[in-house]
Amino acid sequence: MGDEVGMTNTHLNAITESLDIETQNGWREAQKLGVSEAEFLKAVNYAGRDNARTPMQWNSLAHAGFTGAKPWMPVNPNYKHIHVEAQLDDPHTVLSYFKAMARLRKENPVLVYGAYVPVDCEVESLFIFFREWQQEKMLIVLNFSDEVVNLPNQVIPFLNSCLISNYSGGEYQDLEKLLGVELFMANDANCFALAEANMGAAKELYPKAKVVFGVIMGTGVGGGVVVDGKVINGLQGIGGEWGHNFLDESGGACYCGKIGCVEKILAGPALERFYESVSGNKKSLKEVYANYKAGTDKHAKQTMERLTNYFGLGLSVVVNILDPDVIVIGGGVGNIDIIYSEGRESLKKYVFNNRLDTPVIKPKLGDSAGVFGAAFLVN
Ligand SMILES: [Zn+2]
Repeated sequence: MGDEVGMTNTHLNAITESLDIETQNGWREAQKLGVSEAEFLKAVNYAGRDNARTPMQWNSLAHAGFTGAKPWMPVNPNYKHIHVEAQLDDPHTVLSYFKAMARLRKENPVLVYGAYVPVDCEVESLFIFFREWQQEKMLIVLNFSDEVVNLPNQVIPFLNSCLISNYSGGEYQDLEKLLGVELFMANDANCFALAEANMGAAKELYPKAKVVFGVIMGTGVGGGVVVDGKVINGLQGIGGEWGHNFLDESGGACYCGKIGCVEKILAGPALERFYESVSGNKKSLKEVYANYKAGTDKHAKQTMERLTNYFGLGLSVVVNILDPDVIVIGGGVGNIDIIYSEGRESLKKYVFNNRLDTPVIKPKLGDSAGVFGAAFLVN
């Protein structure tokens, strides 16, 4: 009890402070085995069930205002600052938040009767689920860390309005109004493509290129299409989203809700997972590539062949539709040189043509490409 005000587990200093039958019986057995009181207390203070059963902390008076008599077990010593009275009139207390949550639950049957629908999420500190009932659907996002983390894409369409949050800033504010300037938004792959097309490798090596396809192959896979120096966002803003095209079922389930996306096969973590699954060893992509080059590791060879084969197969879809003048590859996987040789050979095999003129090149602007590209959004 007492979680409404953030009461914590108590700390026993002696076994006699506990009247819990389980603790007392355990202590009798422990003594027979020669366990010291200090050792036993350590275990009890960690897992004893009475730790959370101390008297309710109402105020800072004797026995936390729970009773005028002696309570059956001592009050948690932190009652002097954790108690109901101290939290009543402050909207930023645990108690006020608890009341707001209870109110929200009462007002919304979906939170009482709704089916629990979990959302798959790669970020370990996030626990996300929906409650669904009749026509209603509510999203609950819990972050069990003190770090700001990005939400998975599939829940973003549901961020309509925030009903409750224990962080300030849960309410949306209009940034344009606050700053007094017009704002532009674009994803990193689009910015990368823009920068490489307008001032990077594509511009330098192929100044006449009209259509540039830029790809970031790193922890994820994103793409951007630039035509005549402008990014193609498309009707729904998904122009160039190559990373979530279907490539092969062996990639498994993707966070976007589909199976076998390009990203689940060609992104760095996907390749590392593949290597681990065939070799039983965990290695970074860099190490896998080094082993491949050394020619000593058949699983590294298998992983790199998977990369080059699927790189060509995946990219052939883009070439068949857009037939870009140049393709620029950024991100960590872009540093693996064989994608420009073997990977391009594989692309040649899969495109709808008996030759391949499309240059596949490395970027020039490195990590700054995104920032330069964002600046190009303005004109
Ligand atoms: Zn996907």
